[in-house]
Amino acid sequence: MDTIKAVAAEVKSSRYMVAFTGAGISAESGIPTYRGEGGLWNKYDPNRYANISNFLQDPSYYWNFFRDVRYPSLKKVRPNEAHLVLAGLEEVANLKTVITQNIDGLHQDAGSSSVVELHGTTRIIYCMNCSKKYSMDEVFSLLEVKNPPLCSGCGGKLRPAVVFFGESLNPQVLNKAYEETEKCDFLLAVGSSLVVYPAADIPLRAKQRGARLAIVNKDRTPLDYLADYVVNDEAGKVLPLIFENLKNR
Ligand code: NAD
Repeated sequence: MDTIKAVAAEVKSSRYMVAFTGAGISAESGIPTYRGEGGLWNKYDPNRYANISNFLQDPSYYWNFFRDVRYPSLKKVRPNEAHLVLAGLEEVANLKTVITQNIDGLHQDAGSSSVVELHGTTRIIYCMNCSKKYSMDEVFSLLEVKNPPLCSGCGGKLRPAVVFFGESLNPQVLNKAYEETEKCDFLLAVGSSLVVYPAADIPLRAKQRGARLAIVNKDRTPLDYLADYVVNDEAGKVLPLIFENLKNR
């Protein structure tokens, strides 16, 4: 409890706070993480459905996964308490930006106004030939007729606006994330295993620039040694406690 109080004090005194989030923050909304207990990678080989060369060779595997797993789970998800607290911290504290590895759009649904999506979003699907955009619902309908789905305008192949394995991150998005990281005086990392580049780089850069760092994650991370505060527990439990302590101060 002392750590929660201390983190709340940091939130309160921060003049430019940034949150960095990973799959763990959406786990309590019902979206499985990739790694760890119940992780998607235990069931689905990421090399087959999340790798760009395999997607270009045979997109039908990814679209099967989209139709059977991704779409049904994303259709019904709602932001949880942890997403809502981060949105609330824009109002009651100086949280300026959420940098996320997630592709589920739940921070925006919760009301966060400045979200940097490092790995893109599954909510937008576009034609690789003419760039025409589609919603997930539209592509789900197209998939009922044909897999892989093709652009209704030009017949081109469709893809989600996410970064596949084997692809580089969008440099403008990455720069924005680094700019925000370098401006912050307090970084709160939530629900990330902090093992994937540039995830690990964000807390490192923040610390190098003199920011304070708190890590909230169910399991330990390789960057815990660097943090001023570590809470190994569920985000949906810890973030509301931080918020409560903020109000009581
Ligand atoms: P990860 O799957 O590697 O790690 C998730 C971490 O969250 C784990 O360390 C686990 O201990 C922790 N965790 C699980 N449940 C938690 C909870 N309730 N509260 C707090 N922590 C919890 O995820 P990652 O580090 O974010 O990186 C993997 C990549 O997977 C990301 O780049 C992301 O693009 C992608 N991904 C996104 C989603 C999504 O959009 N919701 C879901 C799965 C994977």
